[in-house]
Amino acid sequence: MLNWNELEPQKIAPPIPTDARFDDTPSAHATHAADAGHHHAQTGLEGITQGAGRVDVSEKRIINATADVNQLLPMKYTWAWEKYLAGCNNHWMPTEVSMQADIALWKGRDGLTADERAMIMRNLGFFATAESLVANNIVLAIYKQITNPECRQYLLRQAFEEAVHTHTFQYVVESLGLAEGELFNMYREIPSITAKDAWALKYTKNLSDGDFDTTTTEGAQDFLRDLVAFYVVFEGMWFYTGFAQILSLGRRNKMTGIAEQYQYIMRDESIHMNFGIDVINQIKIENPQLWTEDFKQEVTTMLRDACELEIAYARDTMPHGLLGLNAEMCAEYLHFITNRRCNQIGLVELFPGATNPFPWMSEVIDLKKEKNFFETRVTDYQTGGALSW
Ligand code: FE
Ligand code: MN
Repeated sequence: MLNWNELEPQKIAPPIPTDARFDDTPSAHATHAADAGHHHAQTGLEGITQGAGRVDVSEKRIINATADVNQLLPMKYTWAWEKYLAGCNNHWMPTEVSMQADIALWKGRDGLTADERAMIMRNLGFFATAESLVANNIVLAIYKQITNPECRQYLLRQAFEEAVHTHTFQYVVESLGLAEGELFNMYREIPSITAKDAWALKYTKNLSDGDFDTTTTEGAQDFLRDLVAFYVVFEGMWFYTGFAQILSLGRRNKMTGIAEQYQYIMRDESIHMNFGIDVINQIKIENPQLWTEDFKQEVTTMLRDACELEIAYARDTMPHGLLGLNAEMCAEYLHFITNRRCNQIGLVELFPGATNPFPWMSEVIDLKKEKNFFETRVTDYQTGGALSW
């Protein structure tokens, strides 16, 4: 906590009697001894050391940095800053997307089959709380351990985007008149959703322990496990099968408002995932002792388990197959995606030879959506001009 007595002591602190200097007081000794024993990573809220030297970029690190975490410049990780700028450039709000066609289809009798409705509900139900779980992991677990200001700048942007995503599900519920309790409580009612969320939560749980820190190999590996669970699995694997389901509807001109919102969410999520992968790889570079053969094997097993949970969820959401999709195709798509994630974090591919059964997904992902976005959005941001009140 900020201690006013540590702020510019020569100006603010009362005159110190010569027989009671800071360094000679028993409490000062106790404090130093405690610091020496624990080596907690700095949070940025420590007392200010008056006259401490300026930041040298070589001291900046993702975890356990000695450089002051409150000073953005000089910058080291330009990839993090670029993702922050990209996130800002992609700003959108769910309320800008017209829901009229979706409302007509949802409230009409013949536009959607019972299977399609069930899939839509379970898809929305997974995302409605998944966005909150991801946000809570960033704010309550990840942020504190990342001792780099440009990465924290991105995390603050990402946290807001997760709030926008949660807002999307509020807006969909309100627009379509869905049962809000059914949708938002699904992660506590539908076993295949509970299983996924519970799997991820166990990796964030020990990080919220007050004594957790990344200065030990064990702690730093726990932190990497959490990054893998949330950035690689949650945002990088599980979200993609959900995107494929809704975008498949959109391609058939069904629920086009939700499909458009999912495209914006997917654009945000691809940056979230790539940020997490860059962070993982940079931690590996800076702490090569963490990335042992045993640990790689463990992460590979995590990705394999995550695939099984997702395939069970796909069966649950589409028991009979629909829209040219079925659980087997979702499994194949997931295997294809998982191979890409393995490559991105330096692991051997888990499913050699897996092919993409949804080539249209990569078109949707790779498409430069800005043009489309500005043509369809309801309101314009006043970028490049002064705000007029
Ligand atoms: Fe999100
Ligand atoms: Mn995200």
